[in-house]
Amino acid sequence: MTNFSLFDDFCSKCGNLSFDTTVEPERSVHYARINCARCGAFYKWQSKPKSDPVVITKLLQSPNLDDWERKFLKIIAYSTPTRGESIVLNHLAKKVT
Ligand SMILES: [Zn+2]
Repeated sequence: MTNFSLFDDFCSKCGNLSFDTTVEPERSVHYARINCARCGAFYKWQSKPKSDPVVITKLLQSPNLDDWERKFLKIIAYSTPTRGESIVLNHLAKKVT
């Protein structure tokens, strides 16, 4: 789950440039915690990713989706997907590319 860029970000404790992202439990108010990959110091919270309408539109144009998958994409378009929905979305993105 480190598919985002952290250019110009560095650990204030050790200066390391790489981070580990840990998705928080569902009950947490935060989506994920980002810690320094070297010293483990807390860096920042990551907010919940929103569905990207452009990504969903592209996915819907793919001929490799079945009816259920198309319906699913239309339902989650323009909303904030749950963690489960995000997993399915990532799976579909991998399937069609
Ligand atoms: Zn560090």
